[in-house]
Formats: sequence, structure tokens, C-alpha cells
Amino acid sequence: MSEELGRHCGSTALTFNMHTATMLLCGQIADDLEMSPPERASHERRRAAMYAGVVNDGHIHAQPFSEGNAPGATAGVSTTAAPVDGGWRLNGRKIFASLSHAADRHNVICVTPDDPTIRFMSVPTDSEGLRFSGDWDPLGMRGTVSLTLLMENVFVPSDAELLPPGVFDQVAFRWPHFYLTLSFTYLGIMRAVMDFTTDYLTGRTGPGARRDNPQKQAGWAQMQLAYEQSHALSRRVQREAGPDPSPEAVRRAWAAMVSVMETAPELAGLAVRVCGGRSLLRPAPLERLYRDARCGATMLPWSVEACLERLGRAGLFDTEDTGPHA
Ligand SMILES: Cc1cc2nc3c(=O)[nH]c(=O)nc-3n(C[C@H](O)[C@H](O)[C@H](O)COP(=O)(O)OP(=O)(O)OC[C@H]3O[C@@H](n4cnc5c(N)ncnc54)[C@H](O)[C@@H]3O)c2cc1C
Repeated sequence: MSEELGRHCGSTALTFNMHTATMLLCGQIADDLEMSPPERASHERRRAAMYAGVVNDGHIHAQPFSEGNAPGATAGVSTTAAPVDGGWRLNGRKIFASLSHAADRHNVICVTPDDPTIRFMSVPTDSEGLRFSGDWDPLGMRGTVSLTLLMENVFVPSDAELLPPGVFDQVAFRWPHFYLTLSFTYLGIMRAVMDFTTDYLTGRTGPGARRDNPQKQAGWAQMQLAYEQSHALSRRVQREAGPDPSPEAVRRAWAAMVSVMETAPELAGLAVRVCGGRSLLRPAPLERLYRDARCGATMLPWSVEACLERLGRAGLFDTEDTGPHA
């Protein structure tokens, strides 16, 4: 679904991903991970309430995890949750909090004093002490409105903890394909670039048909190769998503991430060259696709650099390290 949404609007697809990621974490992924029977019972109760909020009241969930301190999924978290009567007091800062003013709940990761275990807490947007700061004037993905979220002594009740302690850490090691979900937005943007280029070269849009030019045909052939390679790899790793993947499957997932996040801007760049100057004029969508496509490589914890670093070590040492970036 992210892919199809991304074909029409990258920002919508990316924010859909943020909402859906929480649903996936508390749903299918939580079902695949270990919990004690009392934890399972309380998880069932809490997620039933969360789903009821989504289905009956239209709640939109956001997932601001990034703090800008470290690239890891399970380390470098400095947002704290201090236990108080009936719940927790949260303090911290999250960067790139997509859906800043639109979400009803901001689901953050944090740690409790003297314990490195990651906790996953849901914070209502109208909580006292929660605010957004800064401007949002980025290159692309402008519709995500990803401001900095600040929490100062924000109270949340005990039931706001959406996963039992330790389950988020398990996700990073045992269900790593979770981090791959971001790439499908960008695969959709690639599809949009392909659609645009076909329409432009055939004359269905733009100043007139350009398909007879052999130079353009050569560029279009290159574009198809690039798209099909990323698409095929993504489909393969999508089938491999699940608990406890093999090291080879995790490597392939990193490779798919790099392939999509790097090929998307390359493809959009090729489309600009192949279609020509007038294809860049608004309201034609190519300039937006070009800008949105460039943002994917930066997304943590599986940024292109982080995946390349892991791939660069894969298979060359005695122990295989397929865990998160800690
Ligand atoms: C449009 C958009 C929307 C976003 N929405 C959200 C959101 O809703 N929720 C959320 O949590 N985050 C979100 N992010 C944030 C994103 O996931 C990253 O956290 C953010 O882009 C990191 O910024 P940075 O590169 O400046 O961080 P830095 O703090 O500089 O991060 C470390 C950088 O080092 C690189 N790096 C180099 N070597 C390594 C290595 N060995 N291991 C790991 N990394 C390495 C990484 O690629 C990364 O760029 C969003 C980002 C964008 C662009």
C-alpha cells in the first residue's frame, strides 16, 4: 500500500508508513515475539484499546524515534521515562517527528533510569508539556511536516506503554525487516517517475511526443533496467520478511534498501535528462518526485550509509553481525 500511495504522493506514503509501523509492531510483529503470559494479556488489552481508537475515533499514530544522537535502533536513546504514580513522566527531544500537528498519538522510544532496555510509549498530542519547535522547510517530502518534538515532564499513564519492556529490543534483532518498510514509499516514487516518463515521451502529457529520438530511447531503456532491478529485489526480500531471518536474508534486505534508496534519485535524475527542460515545470510532478526521491537515503536506522557499512563487513569475518546498529 505504501508503494501505491508513493506513486501518487511520497509524503502521504511516508506518513502512512509511520502510522502503519506502530500497528505492525503491536500486531503481527508482537505476535511473533516472546512475552510472558501476563505480559501477553496486558498487551492484548492495550492494543485492543489502541485499535479501537484508530477504527472508531480515527486516531492517527506517528512514530518519532530519531533523536539525532546516534544512528542505532537500540542505542543512543536519551529520552527518559521516570516512573511516577499511575504512569510515567517523559522528557526528551525527537527530530523529524513526521505528522507533527496531524497525529493524535506520538509513539516514542525511551529508557527508564539506570536501565538500557528500550521502552515504547504512546504520547497524546495534546499532552501538557508536549510541543513542537523549529521550521519545516526541507528539500523534499514537504508534506510530512516533520518538526522537532519536545517533551518536558509529560505524564502518560501506565497503559501508554504499547509494548512490554524488552520487546522493542527483540524487534531490532529478531524482526529486522521492520526497518525495510520505509523503502516501499520510494519504490512507489520510482513507479511514478516511470509513469511520468512514458506519458511525456509518448506525448500524452507535455509539449509533444519524443519517442522517435534514439537518445531518448537509450535513456528510457536504462531507466527500465534500473527500476526492474530494484523492484525485483524488493519483491524478493518482501517474501522473506518474518521472525528470525537468516543472515543472507538480512544482507539481501540491506541490499534492497540501498538499491531502492539510491536508485530512486538516480532514476528521477535520468528522467529529467531524458524528458528535458519543460518536464521540470510545475505543476508537472517530476520536480517534486526528484526532490522527494533524494530524501530516502538518509532514513535511519537503515540509512544507505549504515546498510553499506554492514554490507561491507558481511561474510568477511568469523561472526556474522546482523543486529541493529547499536
Ligand atoms: C522526510 C523525512 C521524514 C522523517 N520522518 C521520521 C519519523 O517520522 N520518525 C523518525 O524517527 N525519523 C524520521 N526521519 C529521520 C530519519 O530517519 C533520520 O533519523 C534522519 O534523517 C537522520 O538525520 P542525520 O543524517 O542528520 O542524522 P545523524 O545524527 O547525522 O545520523 C548519523 C548519520 O551517519 C550516517 N552513518 C555514517 N556511518 C554510519 C554507520 N557506521 N552506522 C550508521 N550510520 C552511519 C547515517 O547514514 C546518518 O546519516 C525522517 C527523515 C526525513 C528526511
